[in-house]
Amino acid sequence: MTYENILKDAGLTRAEFTGGELKVHTPVDGSEIAALKVHTISEADAQIAGANKAFKAWRTVPAPRRGELIRLLGEELRKEKENLGRLVTLECGKIYQEGLGEVQEMIDICDFAVGLSRQLYGLTIASERPGHAMRETWHPMGVCGVITAFNFPVAPWCWNAALAIVCGDPVIWKPSEKTPLTALAVQKICERVCQKFGDDAPRDLFQVLVGERELGELLTASKDVAIVSATGSVPMGRAVAGDMAKRLGRTILELGGNNAMIVALSADLEMAVRAIVFSAVGTAGQRCTTLRRLIVHKDVYDQLIPRLTKAYSTLPIGSPLEEDTLIGPLIDDQAMSAMEQAIEQAKSEGGTVHGGGRALNDQFPSAAYVHPAIAEMPEQSQIMHLETFAPILYAVKYSTIEEAIEIHNAVPQGLSSCIFSTDIRETELFLSGVGSDCGIANVNIGPSGAEIGGAFGGEKDTGGGRESGSDAWKGYMRRQTNTINYSTELPLAQGIVFDI
Ligand code: NAD
Repeated sequence: MTYENILKDAGLTRAEFTGGELKVHTPVDGSEIAALKVHTISEADAQIAGANKAFKAWRTVPAPRRGELIRLLGEELRKEKENLGRLVTLECGKIYQEGLGEVQEMIDICDFAVGLSRQLYGLTIASERPGHAMRETWHPMGVCGVITAFNFPVAPWCWNAALAIVCGDPVIWKPSEKTPLTALAVQKICERVCQKFGDDAPRDLFQVLVGERELGELLTASKDVAIVSATGSVPMGRAVAGDMAKRLGRTILELGGNNAMIVALSADLEMAVRAIVFSAVGTAGQRCTTLRRLIVHKDVYDQLIPRLTKAYSTLPIGSPLEEDTLIGPLIDDQAMSAMEQAIEQAKSEGGTVHGGGRALNDQFPSAAYVHPAIAEMPEQSQIMHLETFAPILYAVKYSTIEEAIEIHNAVPQGLSSCIFSTDIRETELFLSGVGSDCGIANVNIGPSGAEIGGAFGGEKDTGGGRESGSDAWKGYMRRQTNTINYSTELPLAQGIVFDI
């Protein structure tokens, strides 16, 4: 199948992906696959105005009816799963099974949001005043800007958009400039779905802004964008948080991770090895939840590391479009350089590195395929505090569980974490208030591959946002406290007497 056919099968026409100034390259072999027209600032302003108009109409549509729109979106995504999954693979380089998995996540969150559309529950609250009732209600908030990263080009948009739409908020999507094609393909699906839904879906409910970071900055600067949900690097999150704070806008931040696994003395090593390999090299180490740090009990370390290096040596590296491949390419040369620099730094900090280096250079000279690396470190040195977006797994030893938790929490990021142990005292300690400081903490399962039912996000430099399941929907609505006096008196709160 040609690359052009992959684009066309995903619903894009030649006129839509040629003739523009934003060049899109596939990491599969580095070739140019599209040249898209970039939105101008005035077009972006018009999108924001259109979305605000749509908000006025959409907020009046009952939430369960809004859910019907997302039900139709889920239905359409089921039909388009293979086509969209293949485009995800072509555009960001993750293997086809992971491309499909990403679209499945979109479908799952749609199902979740449909149910949620009948469950946007408030509270009734006991009033201290006789003849009074109190309650808490949730209302649509306004336009939601969604800024996304290259490595998950479609699922995080859907975690946000499915909830925002059932909550009554129109969505403007600013995808990564490295992966705009998948966004355009999803936008076409959304437009089809709105048409099917009927007249109560206003124009401009779903929109996409194609371009560089300036368009993201436009969303964060505009007071007409009530919420900005931003997924990406920590420096991007700091910039977005600063811009939003200036106008006191609401943010949902999903930033970098530096995820670790503690492998305890009692761990089932067979299970641990499988979990480590999947979560450290999956998506070629380019997941926010990729396993980057192994904290291993000193008495199992010498059993574990040789098993891992052996498993690493047999992993099939190749085109992500081929069925047998488990490790596809990095997104670009810049990512490859970052990996090489990190490995050099690890060595200079006393590390012993297994693997690493360029792969498949003869077959794909313009792409960025790498051998995954394991770096045995004498201690948690400087390089281990950074998120290098590549398949490098650092390993250190520990003696006591308290020491392991201290090493675990000593990095700036706080996204995902896990422990492999069959000792309930250790596992409960890890999950307790003095254990892992991450937003996600798992037992006997790796740090990556979260289900949509739970709230997704992390603490510290990861930004504190929560998306997807649990009560993350509250981030897309405004809360209102109501007091209703159904008596003939006007008692004041706190027993205040104010006679006039
Ligand atoms: P990036 O920060 O370079 O870009 C992400 C998006 O932000 C892009 O759309 C970009 O145009 C936009 N952007 C950049 N600066 C901006 C600004 N000042 N204002 C507004 N928008 C701006 O990230 P990337 O390289 O595409 O993605 C990799 C990073 O994303 C990693 O750090 C990874 O951990 C993180 N990530 C986090 C999650 C999560 O849920 N926590 C999920 C996926 C990726």
